[in-house]
Amino acid sequence: MTKLKKPIRTCISCRGKFEQKELIRLQCINKNLIVFNNNGRSFYLCNDCKKDKKKCEKALFRQCRNKDNYFEQLKEIVVDGR
Ligand SMILES: [Zn+2]
Repeated sequence: MTKLKKPIRTCISCRGKFEQKELIRLQCINKNLIVFNNNGRSFYLCNDCKKDKKKCEKALFRQCRNKDNYFEQLKEIVVDGR
């Protein structure tokens, strides 16, 4: 018997593989970082990376193709999500 498969996703920053529920799902729209709204492209960040400004910014710049204060935006998202 096979185990029920849990959805595994990759963190855009560390490339680690995690269960989906351990990751925060985000997207970038018009150069704004937001929580994924079921529309368009999204990406995941793990719990460790979302606390790490340097790691986050690099990955977010790559995803959003723009340099902005994404870590600040991320912090607001993370706080709101609790
Ligand atoms: Zn990570």
